[in-house]
Amino acid sequence: MRDSFPLLVKTDFPTLHRDRIDTLQANLGYRCNQSCTHCHVAAGPQRTEEMSWETMDLLLRYLSARGIATLDLTGGAPELNPHFRALVVRARGLSVHVIDRCNLTILNEPGQEDLAVFLADHAVEVTASLPCYLEENVDQQRGKGVFESSLAGLRQLNALGYGRPGSGLALNLVYNPLGPVLPPDQIDLETAYRQELAARYGVVFTRLFVLANMPIQRFGSQLISKGQFAPYMELLKSAHREENVDAVMCRSLLSVDWQGYVYDCDFNQMLKLPLGAGGPSPTHLSALLKRELTGARIRVADHCYGCTAGQGSSCGGALDGASIQTAVRVA
Ligand code: SF4
Ligand code: SF4
Repeated sequence: MRDSFPLLVKTDFPTLHRDRIDTLQANLGYRCNQSCTHCHVAAGPQRTEEMSWETMDLLLRYLSARGIATLDLTGGAPELNPHFRALVVRARGLSVHVIDRCNLTILNEPGQEDLAVFLADHAVEVTASLPCYLEENVDQQRGKGVFESSLAGLRQLNALGYGRPGSGLALNLVYNPLGPVLPPDQIDLETAYRQELAARYGVVFTRLFVLANMPIQRFGSQLISKGQFAPYMELLKSAHREENVDAVMCRSLLSVDWQGYVYDCDFNQMLKLPLGAGGPSPTHLSALLKRELTGARIRVADHCYGCTAGQGSSCGGALDGASIQTAVRVA
């Protein structure tokens, strides 16, 4: 894989500072039942890195100590971590809202037959990748058979009330483009998804989040190999909107890796860019139990234009106007 970071580090992206943290986003490990080409964490079935219970206990202590409202779980497939369910139960016991960044196909894996019921029983918000409502496009991006399996997962969730108004069980879908282009308008695409998924498959959902592809990891490597890196960066920079800068997710979110080290966001985690508030060395979550980060500097590089281009992009989809939704990212 070709490393895009040397091409990103010299940057003219605006300086960013932290607001109050409302979300702790934790990567529970890189193991996944899929190996998507665009995956920015390069996850797959062969990866063995996973968060220990000791580190999860630290997450829980941090949530309590800092009064954080939301725990956002990602991976890999976070559900494959053997302590996933215990962590969810403990976090819900603290009245923390939990988001599971679920790839949907995990719901059909052996040993996960009761996963959907577990998520519903604990009122876990599910945010799931579905890059298109057309089978061929999903299979092209995420692998053969992924669309059919994703539909089966969605049907399981719908049957439990997920995505249905009044159920209290949010089911959000995440779209990202297939190639080096900006995503379409989030509200228009949500309308199309809603109509197509209902008409074709009888599937319902709560919100659609639209994300731009980040020029890092597998996607960054692909761009370099195809000679598309510079044009894609030009596209992101030319579409930069200053008004998105205030809403980028790193201002209110802290990202933790499987070993408990902390980053300004998940993308910085993948680039191993240490927390801006912590100087040049990695910062461990255990060092932040008593530390307030409001006002601290955020570490930026050129990939940050992926968050501010066009309608903007975050774990919660577009950043602009009515479509803003905070505190939520893609598996
Ligand atoms: S994009 Fe999501 S589902 Fe695909 S390999 Fe990465 S973590 Fe797994
Ligand atoms: S890439 Fe990370 S640090 Fe940069 S703007 Fe986006 S969320 Fe913030």
